[in-house]
Amino acid sequence: MAPDRRPSLEALLRQANAMSDRNRRHALGGYPLLGRSLLVSEPDRAADAPAMTHRIRCDTCGQRSPRHVEFGRVQDWQLRHAAANPTHHGYTETLTRPWVVSPRP
Ligand SMILES: [Zn+2]
Repeated sequence: MAPDRRPSLEALLRQANAMSDRNRRHALGGYPLLGRSLLVSEPDRAADAPAMTHRIRCDTCGQRSPRHVEFGRVQDWQLRHAAANPTHHGYTETLTRPWVVSPRP
């Protein structure tokens, strides 16, 4: 069996404690299981995890940019769309980020 290269729960909690209270809930969550395990929720940082992607929707007409891992590519779409539609000022970004839940002793 391959060694577990995930950060320890203690390391994750130290990282989480360095964040603001507001963000902590979203960066790491724990749920007690029977015995001494916790179910831990965290962003999937594995090398083979899907990349986080961005997308922008025009709030005026509903058109959407292509989904892309580089925010700049999405922002280019937004600026081209705004140049072609000068009255379209409001946009909404959507992030897609993979998360995992795993038991920790
Ligand atoms: Zn538009």
